Amino acid sequence: MSKPSATLWTDYADAKPEAGLCEWRIPSLSLPGEHIIVSAMMRLRGAGHGDPILSPSFDYWDGYRVHVPCGLQWRVTLAIDRDAICVEGLEHADCIYCERRPTLHGCQRPADGRGVIINGDPWRFNSWWLSCCRWGATPHVDDPRELERIRREAFARARHHSTMTPAQPPEE
Ligand SMILES: [Zn+2]
Repeated sequence: MSKPSATLWTDYADAKPEAGLCEWRIPSLSLPGEHIIVSAMMRLRGAGHGDPILSPSFDYWDGYRVHVPCGLQWRVTLAIDRDAICVEGLEHADCIYCERRPTLHGCQRPADGRGVIINGDPWRFNSWWLSCCRWGATPHVDDPRELERIRREAFARARHHSTMTPAQPPEE
């Protein structure tokens, strides 16, 4: 069996994918050195008076042309979830309560940390949280790597604690 070509990234500047769901690799602006991986559609969009053009769903239309993030790469996805997001290389441990892999979420907060949360671009996300069950939900943290570190520590403490007292399986 040959390896799926989904492991290879293509520079968007060199070649564009066909319409459909793709995985996208985007340099993060809020986590320097990290890459955000998202699943998003390559789809037709209106672009001024000309014919519709193919472009990723997270593009930006300024009234004249379509913009995509610098350094954008893509590959045919094996993922099923549209809008699934992760930080490249960052694994999230299974929840010790529901034993599921949590889902990473992010959003963009204003620089002063107050006010309205903007559902912005994934490469600008500066507030992150994980969800699975009620017991495994995390607070919003500005660095998902730190989030995972704290979470694993908390799991280790909970496991230690459960060796001393009978574990109470939480109810969903
Ligand atoms: Zn859970």
